[in-house]
Amino acid sequence: MPGKYYDEDKPEISDFEYDMLMVELRNLEKEFPELKNKDSLTEKVGGHVKKGFKEVTHEIPLLSLQDVFSLEEVEDFVIKTNEKAKENNIEDVTYVVETKIDGLSSALEYKNGKFIRGATRGNGQIGEDVTENLKTIKTIPMKIQDNIDITVRGEVFISKDDFEKMNQERENNEEELFANARNAAAGSLRQLDSNVTKERPLDIYIFNVQKIEGKEFNSHYEELEYLNKLGFNVNPVRIYCKTIKEIEKAIQKIGDQREKLTFGIDGAVVKVDNLKFREILGNTAKTPRWAVAYKYPPEQKETKLKDIICQVGRTGVITPMAILEPVKVAGSTISKTTLHNEDFIKEKDLKVGDTVVIQKAGDVIPEIVEVKKEKRTGNEIDFEMPKVCPVCGAKAVREEGEAAIRCTGIECPAKLFRNLVHFASKEAMDIDGLGENIIQQLLDRKLISNIVDIYNLKLEDIASLKKNGKKFAQNLIDAINKSKENDLYKLITAIRNSSCWSKSIKNISKKI
Ligand SMILES: [Zn+2]
Repeated sequence: MPGKYYDEDKPEISDFEYDMLMVELRNLEKEFPELKNKDSLTEKVGGHVKKGFKEVTHEIPLLSLQDVFSLEEVEDFVIKTNEKAKENNIEDVTYVVETKIDGLSSALEYKNGKFIRGATRGNGQIGEDVTENLKTIKTIPMKIQDNIDITVRGEVFISKDDFEKMNQERENNEEELFANARNAAAGSLRQLDSNVTKERPLDIYIFNVQKIEGKEFNSHYEELEYLNKLGFNVNPVRIYCKTIKEIEKAIQKIGDQREKLTFGIDGAVVKVDNLKFREILGNTAKTPRWAVAYKYPPEQKETKLKDIICQVGRTGVITPMAILEPVKVAGSTISKTTLHNEDFIKEKDLKVGDTVVIQKAGDVIPEIVEVKKEKRTGNEIDFEMPKVCPVCGAKAVREEGEAAIRCTGIECPAKLFRNLVHFASKEAMDIDGLGENIIQQLLDRKLISNIVDIYNLKLEDIASLKKNGKKFAQNLIDAINKSKENDLYKLITAIRNSSCWSKSIKNISKKI
C-alpha cells in the first residue's frame, strides 16, 4: 500500500476508508488544481519506502513466515518435513523453536567487521536505509569480533517496561500515545531525524545470518552461537528439539513464560536446524518451506467492570465505555475499553460490578469476551443507556435500524471537543502538544470555539495555561504553523465527518 498514512505506523483506518479518502482527494485535486501538492499521494504508485529514505535492495530477501494457529498444523509441518528428509536421505532432522519477537525486522550489513548499512524489511525485497537510526541502538555493535563480511537479520523492538515508561512520558507531555510496543518501535526506527530515534529506547535481537563470506555452518544453532561470539545480542529464547513432542512442549513453555518475558512476542517460530536441508526445502514465493510461525491465541485476563460511562463522539454517537480494574494484558495496562453500543451490553448481559474476561491480541483493541456470571454476588447493577446526551442534555435518539444512539444537540460541546481532538491528532493535522487536556483548557477559557481559532491562538494565551508555559507555548505555535504545510489529504482526514465541514474548509483553505 502506498502513502504516508501507512508509513506513520499507526493503522487506524480500514483499507476501505483509505480508498474512499483517495477518491475524495482525487476529486478535490481535480476541482482545485492549485491546491495540489507535487508530492501528493495520488502521484505515488505502490512502494513502501518512506519519503526521505534511500531504498535498499536486499540481496537475500527478508521472507515472512507461514503462520499457523494450531498445534495440529505444527504437527503437519513436522511430518511433511520429516518425510521430505527421508526422501533426501537426511537422517535425524532437528528443529529450533524460538520466540517470535514482536518488532520490526531489519537487516544489518558488516564489511570487514564494520557496520556499514542497515535497512528495514520493507516488502522483503526493498527496504529503507535506516543506517543512521540503527547506529543509535546501543546493542548494535559498530565493530564485530571477526573482520568478516556478514549480513544478519534481527528484530528491532522496545521492551515492555520501556514501552510503559515511554507512553507515560508522552501522556505527561500531552503527546499522543502509541497503540503498542511494536508500533512504537517501528515509528521510532523510521524517523527521518536520527536525533529523535536516539531518544527512543530501541533494542534489537539478532536471529539469522542472511549472508556470510568465507565461513560455513552446518546448523542454525551453530550460526546463533557464532553470532553471539561476534558480539551480537542474539534472541535469548531458543529451544533445541528432536521430536514433535519436544516441539509442542517448547511451544507450550514459551507460551507459559510469555508474560514474564521482558519483550513482547507474537508467536513461536519452529525452524529446521540443518542448513543444507533448508536449501533442499527451499522457499515458496513468499515464505520459506523450512519454518512456520505458531501464533498463540489472544491473551485473556479476568478483571472487574467498575463502571460504564458514556462518551460523545464527533458525529454525536454516544458510546458506552467500560471502566475496568486496571489489568495487564498482552504487554499493556488496560483500564478502559469500548462496549460499542446498547446491543452489545444486552447481548453479553453486562452489569456494573461484574467479573469479566478481557482479551487482547497484538494491536487489536481489547475486548470483553465473557461475563463470569458464577462470580456474581447480587450487588451488580443493570445499566441503561441515557435518554439525553450526558454532555449537553439534548435528547439522545436511536434511529430505526441503527445500533448507535446519537445526541441531537446541534451545538453539543462534546461533539466540538471530539472534533478538535481529532483535528489535532496524528492521523489528521498532527499538531504535537495539542492533546485532549490542552484543548479542554482552551475551550474552558473560551480561547477557541472552532477549528479555525486554533490558527489564531496567541503565544501569551497558550503560555497562560501552564506554569512556566512559555517554551510549551512556543513549541505548540511552531507545531500549529507546521501543520499548515500538511498534505491536502491530512486536512481532508482532519475535517472529514466534521459537523462544521463546509464552514471549516473555506476558512481553513484561506488560512493554509
Ligand atoms: Zn450532546
